[in-house]
Amino acid sequence: MSGESLYDIILTAQKILEQYPLCDHCLGRQFAKKGMEMTNKERGHAIKVFLNMKLYDDYHNGKINREYLRSLATNSGKPVSSLYEKLFGEKIAEAPCYICGGKINEKLYDELAMKATALLKKVNVYKFLVGVSVPQDIVLREIEVSSFSGLEYSESIKNEIKREVGKRIMHYGLEPDFDKPEAVVIIDYETLGLRLEINPLLFEGKYWKRGRNISHTIWTTRDSVKLYPYSLQEFFNDRLKEIFDAEEVVIHASGREDVDARMLGTGRPLVIEIKNPRFRYVDLDLLNELLKGTLIEAVIHGESSRSRIAYLKGEASKKKKLYKVLIMTENPINRQELDEIEKYFTNREIKQLTPLRILRRKKEHLRRRKVYFVKTRQLVDNMFEALIYCDGGLYVKELVHGDQGRTTPSISDVLGVQAYPLELDVLVVEQE
Ligand SMILES: [Zn+2]
Repeated sequence: MSGESLYDIILTAQKILEQYPLCDHCLGRQFAKKGMEMTNKERGHAIKVFLNMKLYDDYHNGKINREYLRSLATNSGKPVSSLYEKLFGEKIAEAPCYICGGKINEKLYDELAMKATALLKKVNVYKFLVGVSVPQDIVLREIEVSSFSGLEYSESIKNEIKREVGKRIMHYGLEPDFDKPEAVVIIDYETLGLRLEINPLLFEGKYWKRGRNISHTIWTTRDSVKLYPYSLQEFFNDRLKEIFDAEEVVIHASGREDVDARMLGTGRPLVIEIKNPRFRYVDLDLLNELLKGTLIEAVIHGESSRSRIAYLKGEASKKKKLYKVLIMTENPINRQELDEIEKYFTNREIKQLTPLRILRRKKEHLRRRKVYFVKTRQLVDNMFEALIYCDGGLYVKELVHGDQGRTTPSISDVLGVQAYPLELDVLVVEQE
């Protein structure tokens, strides 16, 4: 169809209606992209009004017969059916719309919008998006009609429902957001049921762990006995779940320290994910007040994103770290030997086979990481403290004891005496 003039539109509509019965909405949608400031229903109706005038002329000029007018009246309904009834005094049984079967109408949109708004408001959502799931057979019929007439101006039923319901939800004071909706309300075309997909809240932050034997997630034995009294996961759930009326709070940290290691100094960056929140607007200062603590503490800087999680889990976890380790040796050592250690472990590459302690959880793998410097301070003749600055992902305990030769070189190797890491603290987690 060239489709430039109104007459062309009327002719095309006539051709479509010869073949398919269509309601105002579904006919109007075939010409949706022709601009015209109106809804599909208004457009469809207007086209039928013009078509009616044309058919009236055609009949009186003998271009069409009663039979033809009858079938067009059946397929297009009012006002053509009224014209036919007036001319011939015969009632017309209008055929149901080929695409929607007469299912869609303004009243339905009003009802859907009302229900959707109630759902959205119940979970305090302000920025929304409407989604529609349309069964395959409707989509196929729709494609059939628009390809029959060669129309490039049609819109899908899905789009119409999304827009019409969305528009009405806006009238209740909510705002559509196509990029970052707080929730998507999904309409099932078949059942006309509604369902909400609430997007999680993501916060950027840092945490500190000042106690030992605190795990990241809850660790339990096979008999569901907790291995450690407390976890970061519990901390964040305890503090944040209720205020957001959320299903769960999940943390995504940039690497993790061992259960028995503390996280001090700079703190470790993380993203806090609030899943299925029924309440979304909480003052940042209040959140930070809730996250204060002695053994564990955290701070939130602001909103975060999925890409930030990917960054923290990937690239950022390889950033350099500074550790403090308390080391005990089997035999006494002297300052000179410690100086040797410092000299040796300057920009030194370390090869580590997967540590024996985690081999049952992880696959055997050779890891290469660098130690940039080691600074030591002797406490007693068989005990010293070491500051170790190295690549992220280096197994520090293994660097100390050597892991039965699986980590080379190690501090034990270089000292020539077995060394044991007693306490480990993470002091600096570099970022950006
Ligand atoms: Zn229809």
